Amino acid sequence: MLIAAAVLLAVGVLWFTLNVPPEAGPVSAEPPSPARRLEERKAAIYESLRDLVFEFRTGKLSEPDYRATREELQRELAAVNAELERLVGKASAAAPEASAPVPAVSAMPEGVVCPGCGAHFSRPMKFCGECGRPLSGETS
Ligand SMILES: [Zn+2]
Repeated sequence: MLIAAAVLLAVGVLWFTLNVPPEAGPVSAEPPSPARRLEERKAAIYESLRDLVFEFRTGKLSEPDYRATREELQRELAAVNAELERLVGKASAAAPEASAPVPAVSAMPEGVVCPGCGAHFSRPMKFCGECGRPLSGETS
């Protein structure tokens, strides 16, 4: 009788654990938004591209294969990016930094470059800190 009860209890516990849907556990994470899914896909594509380059460099992949796969991945990446832009455009307030275009580093919007030694200074200076040459320093 005791054994029967124990078995019944065990079966009951087993039944209970098996019937708990995976989402019904200790859920604290927010539901995956479409943008998040796209970001994840983008990351996966980037990873594939990295792997691809690596395999090509190590000689595991022939160049035509490499090019074809890369083009395919880049097409997919473009599609994901377009979709993401569409989503982010709708809710642009969500993460402006993430979607903002990165300014070109070579532009050097301000600062001076020493004509003598090529040292770059972020602020206009009268004299070069590297070689002491006078700098015009004016940023119009
Ligand atoms: Zn200098």
